Amino acid sequence: MESPELSFTLAYIVFSICFVFTPNEFRSAGITIQNVFWSWLGSEDVGFIQYHVRRSSVTILVHSALPLGYYVGMCITAPEKNLGYIHQVTTYHVHMALQRDCHVTVTQSRQQQLSPDSASPAQILTLRVDSINPAVTPFDIRLNSTEYAELREKLHAPIRNSANVVIHQTISELFLDTFRAQVDLNQRYTLPTGQELEPCIGCMQVQASTKLMRLCHAEGADNESECQQCWCRPMWCLSCLGRWFASRQDQQRPETWLSSRAPCPTCRATFCILDVCVLH
Ligand SMILES: [Zn+2]
Ligand SMILES: [Zn+2]
Ligand SMILES: [Zn+2]
Repeated sequence: MESPELSFTLAYIVFSICFVFTPNEFRSAGITIQNVFWSWLGSEDVGFIQYHVRRSSVTILVHSALPLGYYVGMCITAPEKNLGYIHQVTTYHVHMALQRDCHVTVTQSRQQQLSPDSASPAQILTLRVDSINPAVTPFDIRLNSTEYAELREKLHAPIRNSANVVIHQTISELFLDTFRAQVDLNQRYTLPTGQELEPCIGCMQVQASTKLMRLCHAEGADNESECQQCWCRPMWCLSCLGRWFASRQDQQRPETWLSSRAPCPTCRATFCILDVCVLH
C-alpha cells in the first residue's frame, strides 16, 4: 500500500468493526471488553447486576472513544499531515479546532522559573484559539516563548498579538531569519526528474526543501575551502537545517555564526551557509 495513512485507516476500520461486533476470531483471541477489563468488572456470578452495569458503561465509553483513538493513531502514523487541527489535551477535556476555522491570539505573557538552576525565568505565553465554528468553545494553549516560532511555522493561520506581548525568542530562532535570508540569495537546486520529495526527517511536518552543494569554493578565495561535497538526497526543511546549523555553533559568540561551518546532519560533510540550496 502506497500511503501509511490509507493503510492505517483501512486497518482501523476493520479493527473497529471487529471490536464492536466481536466475531468468533476476536472472541477466541480474547479481544473483548469483558476480557480487557476483567479485573475491574469483577465476577458475573458474584454480582450479576453490578457486573452488567459496569460492562455496559465501559462498552459505551470504549466505543465512543474509537474516533479519538483513530485521531491519535493518525497523528502518530502520518504526523506530516498534521490533519489540520489544533488540539489541546487536559485531564478531562480534549479541545480540537480545525486550523482553517481558527483565529489564534497571544493574550498573555508571564515569567516563570521552570527550574531552580536555570539562569533566567522562562516566558510562558497564553494563546487563545477561537473558531468560527460555533460548536467549538474557545480554549487556551500555553507554551514557552522559545517554542513560539515553531508553532507559528506549523500553524496555517496567522497569530495575532492582542496584548502587544514582547516575545522572547531564543537566539537560534532569531538567527533563523538571517539564515533564511542568506540562503535565499544562493543558487537553487533542481530535483532530478523522477526523484520524489520526502517529509523532512527533522520535523516530519513539511517536505524536505534543501540540498547541500559545495558551492563556496567558487567564491574566488585563494585558499581551498574546508567545505566538502554532501551526496545526501534532500532530507531536511530549511528551518530544521537552520536550527541544526545554529546548534553546532559557539553559543557564546553568535556574531561568528554566519561565517562558520557545520557538518551535514546526515553524512557529516562540512558545509557553510553558501552551500545551502533551496529546491526549485
Ligand atoms: Zn523540518
Ligand atoms: Zn550529507
Ligand atoms: Zn562551504
